[in-house]
Amino acid sequence: MARLSRDEMRGKAQTVLGLVDPAELGSTIMHEPLLWNVTPPGRRHEALTEPLDPGRYWKYLTAQDDNPANTTQKDVGVATRAVEEFVAEGGRTVVELTIGGLEPDPEGLAQVARATGAHLVMGCGHYVDDYQDPANEDRTVDSFAREMIDQVQEGAWGTGVRAGIVGEIGCVWPWTEKEKRVLAGAVIAQQETGAALTIHPARHEDHPWMLVEFLRDRGADLSRTIIDHIDRTIFDDDRLFRLADAGVVLEWDLFGQEATYYGHADIDMPNDGARLKAIRRVLDRGHRGQVVISHDICHVMQLSEWGGHGYGHIHRSVIPLMRKRGFTESEVAEIMVETPRRLLTFICGGATQREGGAGRPCAPSASSLAGRLAGRGCVRPSAPTGASGGGWPTRAPGSGPAASRTHGRRSAGASGRL
Ligand SMILES: [Zn+2]
Repeated sequence: MARLSRDEMRGKAQTVLGLVDPAELGSTIMHEPLLWNVTPPGRRHEALTEPLDPGRYWKYLTAQDDNPANTTQKDVGVATRAVEEFVAEGGRTVVELTIGGLEPDPEGLAQVARATGAHLVMGCGHYVDDYQDPANEDRTVDSFAREMIDQVQEGAWGTGVRAGIVGEIGCVWPWTEKEKRVLAGAVIAQQETGAALTIHPARHEDHPWMLVEFLRDRGADLSRTIIDHIDRTIFDDDRLFRLADAGVVLEWDLFGQEATYYGHADIDMPNDGARLKAIRRVLDRGHRGQVVISHDICHVMQLSEWGGHGYGHIHRSVIPLMRKRGFTESEVAEIMVETPRRLLTFICGGATQREGGAGRPCAPSASSLAGRLAGRGCVRPSAPTGASGGGWPTRAPGSGPAASRTHGRRSAGASGRL
């Protein structure tokens, strides 16, 4: 398979169909599975043996029924309809983070992209420890790094389809040694490829800060690192502001999930209004450009065709709610278009950028994996690329379903680590 050089990637975004001008990305949701299996590996043999029953909707939503058919979605046709709904509501790009342990299907994503015209940007790397392939047990940091670099530059999971972002790198509590090795490899992949890094933190409210310290120690670019699932992890402003002040990007990616009866932990899951209030506080503190949002739909009952909120929810309901709550058009565009575009644009960064070398080739980094192994490393990325252009898309008149939506959620037993 042809291998892209970092000079070919620099300044571009990478979808499952190839490199694109980042100005084309438009309104973007940053954290979604489209083709997934979040059923714990030990239960996958029973998947799909019992069909879903719409009459058990509430039981699925509240983890009283953990039917694996709810946690498995491998149908390209279903994913295509879901993305068509997203596009009809005004969306343009979906970042798809089904990675190692969750049965990624790069070719299936390419089919969905061709059928819908949407941009799909695929992740890479590995999910939480007990979902990982047992073959990962003794792998080194460099082995994980090399795999992720190859997934971005050459192709992922045995295909020629390339990843456009590193992650979501999975972590649980207590944080495992294997997960630390994967994340250390992901930092090298970030430095080497100029891609952004997105991380699924453990549920412990102090874990995101442990991530920041881990990342700093390894020279990660925090401005191009996303801490996912803030909604279910951080419940106080001290921790929230400390993270924001560190310079990472904060992701509220459970929009549409509002259930009090949350199966994974005894928390009060915020509703969409509370999510927007938290985002408001972060923006008011001056952290423009550090917020992205998504739905993280990974249960079949969350799909519109099963009565769930679906991938169009943010465009259909949340963006209008933002406006009602006083978000400016500039702030909405920043969250939906500009910050995703900055993150999805490959950079070279570091010394090369500071030396004013926009047209210069990326220099190898002595500390990067490739710097050590092959001299093809990218200097540690630092500043945003400052890509410009691409306005806020308006919703196509009369498009999209008008039906009211209910709230999806995860079922605890079938996907205990999410
Ligand atoms: Zn996650």
